[in-house]
Amino acid sequence: MGNVREVRIARRTGFCYGVREAIDKAKESAAAGKRTHTLGQVVHNEGVIAQLQAQGIETVDTLDQVDEGTAVVIRAHGVRPDVLERAEGRGLDVIDGTCTWVIQEQREITRLVEEGYSIVLLGTPRHPEVVGLLGFAPDAIVVDEEEDWEAIPRRKKMALLSQSTQPPWKFEKLAAFMVGRCHELKIVNTVCPVTIRRQEDTVETAREVDLMVVVGGRSSANTKELTRLCSIVGTRAIQIESEEDLTDAAVFADACVVGVTGGTSTPIEDLRCVAERILRVAGTVDAAVHAEELAMAALAAAATPAGRTTSLPEIVTAG
Ligand code: SF4
Repeated sequence: MGNVREVRIARRTGFCYGVREAIDKAKESAAAGKRTHTLGQVVHNEGVIAQLQAQGIETVDTLDQVDEGTAVVIRAHGVRPDVLERAEGRGLDVIDGTCTWVIQEQREITRLVEEGYSIVLLGTPRHPEVVGLLGFAPDAIVVDEEEDWEAIPRRKKMALLSQSTQPPWKFEKLAAFMVGRCHELKIVNTVCPVTIRRQEDTVETAREVDLMVVVGGRSSANTKELTRLCSIVGTRAIQIESEEDLTDAAVFADACVVGVTGGTSTPIEDLRCVAERILRVAGTVDAAVHAEELAMAALAAAATPAGRTTSLPEIVTAG
């Protein structure tokens, strides 16, 4: 038994609306009786992919794996325009799940290219959203970490945009750096507001607790950023992919109140599972006995109807 008596889940966590919409579109298509595929994993979460598979929704890596006349869902990250054209040209039933925010990014970048700006994009070079954006601006220079920035050439007219989930501080720092790189600089802030709100709520929770548990893919940039922000406000944080990673109660040794948050691809239900697991492995005797109801209460407190990001019928009924 341990010392954890309470677990708090950060507000406005769970899937971002872009991911949720793409998943819902795939589910609606399958429910309408269509053979449905998603082009690439609609979300990097094995549990969710397994659930979709159970509903007959298959993940494919290329359009060649999709038979004519069947449905293919474009995920929230979007794709290059030629991919969309090819899908339509092959007679596939294309369901475009590209997030509205990403569509806006694609429009902005297209306009800036037409206006003659050299594009710099802050992002992870092989991230699907960046790959899709490069379809609209093939000559764009993609930079990520600060050590890459010196490679940005000097040009007369330059424009800076960002992959939606990049940290705002990095975008601002790069914008300042680029002032010295060109005569005219256009900055279009395409950091997604959902990312910013999630970071704010995570920091708020981190300030109130002894330890933070951050749930998300190991390579997910927005998840790593949440972990970093917790440390910046002085709260120790551990990053995990799922509740199964929580086997060592020793990490909670000095913690009485623990916070839980998650990246944009982590379902809010996973955060409840993590909360329950923490209480079971490291809770006080009382907390361990009531782990399930305490975790449910933590979820209900976080996922108010206005802030809810996934369908949670039990909370709707309770509310
Ligand atoms: S993080 Fe923002 S831009 Fe990216 S898919 Fe989610 S809602 Fe859309």
